[in-house]
Amino acid sequence: MPWKEEKDPYKIWLSEIILQQTRVEQGLAYYNSFIQHFPTISHLALAEEKKVFKLWEGLGYYSRCRNLIATAKYIHQELKGIFPGTYEEILNLKGIGPYTASAIASFAFNLPFAVVDGNVFRILARVFGITDPIDSTAGRKKFTQLAAQLLDQERPGKYNQAIMDFGATVCKPAAPLCFDCIFKKYCIAYAENKIETLPVKEKKLKQRNRFFCFFLVQHQNKIAIRERTEKDIWRHLHEFPVVELTENTAPEQAVNAARNLGWVTEGATLKTDDTTYRQKLTHQNIHARMVRVYADQKPPALKTYDWVPVKDLKSYSFPKIINDFLENSNDTGQNHTSYPEKTGTQH
Ligand code: SF4
Repeated sequence: MPWKEEKDPYKIWLSEIILQQTRVEQGLAYYNSFIQHFPTISHLALAEEKKVFKLWEGLGYYSRCRNLIATAKYIHQELKGIFPGTYEEILNLKGIGPYTASAIASFAFNLPFAVVDGNVFRILARVFGITDPIDSTAGRKKFTQLAAQLLDQERPGKYNQAIMDFGATVCKPAAPLCFDCIFKKYCIAYAENKIETLPVKEKKLKQRNRFFCFFLVQHQNKIAIRERTEKDIWRHLHEFPVVELTENTAPEQAVNAARNLGWVTEGATLKTDDTTYRQKLTHQNIHARMVRVYADQKPPALKTYDWVPVKDLKSYSFPKIINDFLENSNDTGQNHTSYPEKTGTQH
């Protein structure tokens, strides 16, 4: 991995932020692309935000990207582009928690702070047979203290890297390689056949289902989009006019709502996509339907929206669920350029 043995705190920070909630195989391409576009933190700080979000597209959890931009600007403007070099200062940066602060402090500055990520929780729980839930306050404290005791004070960076690699390659979540493991003589989970049950988690995530119907309202070769600014999922990404429904009802109900909102004007042609698109977020399951609306005038109710050329849609950041539709749709909308063409209304 390009970030292995890396000493530049900017690159370590970037890789850690990208790898939160993202698999290494997926994160690698994003990391390389970010480094290529923004070789230093000042390049990132001075970049157009739209461009940064576009590069982040597909990684999800966009609050990470917002914090990345905010922290880069702060370091560029307030700290002359120099990444802070103490654990406390690093921890104070936006979007950085104890785990990332320990990783940066130990890898970049060889400071004695133990990382406690999912790998470390798993290894410690299994080797020491700890049954305290890893998502409880008491459990977290116990694991953090034990990790600090075990840390190699001389080589904290190497130790942290080694334990994380061990968790990723040997003591894996499923089917760990116990037979060849150097700890099998001491490992309590192995001796007591508790590998499947450790580590323990207390809470199960509650999932909420949400149902959206997006309207791709197009007049000639332009289509209405807007940036999501509300404190909700997908903040700062773009979207088409959307109706949120309370349950999984037919799109006709959403069409009626769109008509009432003035998004579907007299004489418009409607085309409903048959597929329900789905996206799983940490706490939410999103279900979305898509309706194309070919209008012979720009609906006045959408005057606050940006009307962008259909061919330029690719340069805007959209939620994955919309990108999935745009990629799968045979109808790119680019052939609907001559209006009026009142062909009636179809669903
Ligand atoms: S023996 Fe198995 S469970 Fe124990 S540390 Fe090794 S790989 Fe993990």
